[in-house]
Amino acid sequence: MHLSGRRATRGLLHARDGAADSETPVYVAAEIERHFMQSRDLIRRAIWSAIYLLFILAPLFALLAGTLPPARNFGTEFSVALGYSGLAIMGLQFGLTARFRHVTEPWGEDVIYHFHRRVSLLAVGLVIVHPLILVAIRSESVAMPESLSEVPWGAWFAVLSIGSLIVLVITALWRKQLKIRYEIWHLSHIVLALTAIGAGMLHMIGWGFYLTDPFKRALWICVAIFWICLLLYVRLFKPLFMLRRPYRISEVRTERGDTTTLVMLPDGHAGWRFKPGQFGWLTVWGGPFRVTGHPFSFSSSAEAPDGRVEMTIRNLGDFTSTVNKIPVGKRVYLDGPYGAFTIGNPTDMHVLIAGGIGITPMMSMIRTLADRGDKRPLVLIYGAKTWDSLTFREELDTLKTRLDLRIAYVLANPPDGWEGDTGRIDAELFRRHLPPEYADHEYFICGPDTMMDAIESALGEMKVPLSRYHSERYSFV
Ligand SMILES: Cc1cc2nc3c(=O)[nH]c(=O)nc-3n(C[C@H](O)[C@H](O)[C@H](O)COP(=O)(O)OP(=O)(O)OC[C@H]3O[C@@H](n4cnc5c(N)ncnc54)[C@H](O)[C@@H]3O)c2cc1C
Repeated sequence: MHLSGRRATRGLLHARDGAADSETPVYVAAEIERHFMQSRDLIRRAIWSAIYLLFILAPLFALLAGTLPPARNFGTEFSVALGYSGLAIMGLQFGLTARFRHVTEPWGEDVIYHFHRRVSLLAVGLVIVHPLILVAIRSESVAMPESLSEVPWGAWFAVLSIGSLIVLVITALWRKQLKIRYEIWHLSHIVLALTAIGAGMLHMIGWGFYLTDPFKRALWICVAIFWICLLLYVRLFKPLFMLRRPYRISEVRTERGDTTTLVMLPDGHAGWRFKPGQFGWLTVWGGPFRVTGHPFSFSSSAEAPDGRVEMTIRNLGDFTSTVNKIPVGKRVYLDGPYGAFTIGNPTDMHVLIAGGIGITPMMSMIRTLADRGDKRPLVLIYGAKTWDSLTFREELDTLKTRLDLRIAYVLANPPDGWEGDTGRIDAELFRRHLPPEYADHEYFICGPDTMMDAIESALGEMKVPLSRYHSERYSFV
């Protein structure tokens, strides 16, 4: 079964360039490379997961070392353990969002942010359950004081920490419904997280049951300093690095579909290399220290000369509506490259599925392969509202002559006389455009969430293994 799929793919490849079966070793080599990359990613994931667990559990176990205070009842000890764990998990959130490229690479940035959201809820749950258990079991450690003035200061910090956490969770989960501007939310998110963790630490020190031992107290203070260093790394060190390596806008190009391409050249340095499909954080207005960077995929070829990078941006909100007004020559700051949404060397058929502005990473892949003279078979399935909103349409038609590329445009509102595909991208459409075995192709998906969900379930229906599809979600923040 597997073989027939390979033959179908190869058939398409060879029909175009007349290659013979003697090319088979190329496929074997590519297959070996794929397995090598998968195993390498698995090992990296295992190592980083182990380090993550170590950072969460080590401070907790350190509390149990050395001299211990007299034991209390199980409920009290259990609830305290939950509180410490919750705080340790929360502190490490700064690490998850610190954009450490080597850590995030095996998963992709969107998966890390998804994990950040989920694990934050767990941490907040643990921290909130901690006092609830103490109250429920009427632990002597929460004995009700006669008046507010008798409440120990450590307890006030607990209230501040939990209060900040509740506001943080509500604003994170319902930011859009509460109509909070992204920039305001982002700043308040950092302030609330710092308050929650700082107050949590002071609560621990104030209560001091396990931290009477100076060694343990010093250890937890070191842990807190480490968390703060993680934050400083993103908010101070990285911006300083960007400040020393700015870019300049060399062209502002209007594209189809209310979209603008910014062409940027490194200013006074060689720039960096990215892989096609990756993205960067762009800061245009204000310096790199402001928390206003926006993520955009690179749309240019990874082989472009002079360290040039391009981002193609659709007008969808307050920042993106200003992009076509950016003057040529303006200094901007780029943080990147990030993301695991990228093509490797395997020569299997690559199926690129783009919805709307999700075409940008695909364009980078297509342009890069054209510049490399790479003739692997490509199918681009590109969904848009109208014929006129198909960004890069003309260039794609030109690129077809340099690549083994077939394109299927799928329009929601087709013009009169349109004979191409309409409606949704689904399993039926794949069967019309792709040769079986479907499980042998590599799928790259980027577009609106609803479209990506539908495509991922269509691929599942077609028995395409998870390892064969790669996606980039623009809604991860
Ligand atoms: C990995 C990735 C790659 C992307 N690539 C592209 C691309 O190539 N082309 C393109 O047009 N769009 C891309 N986007 C989407 C783009 O980042 C948002 O459309 C843009 O940030 C919206 O900003 P705004 O102020 O104009 O819109 P707003 O109306 O203010 O915000 C709309 C939504 O965009 C998100 N957003 C806003 N500001 C930020 C910010 N500073 N950081 C992160 N998210 C924010 C929020 O979820 C917000 O609710 C990408 C997004 C991601 C995550």
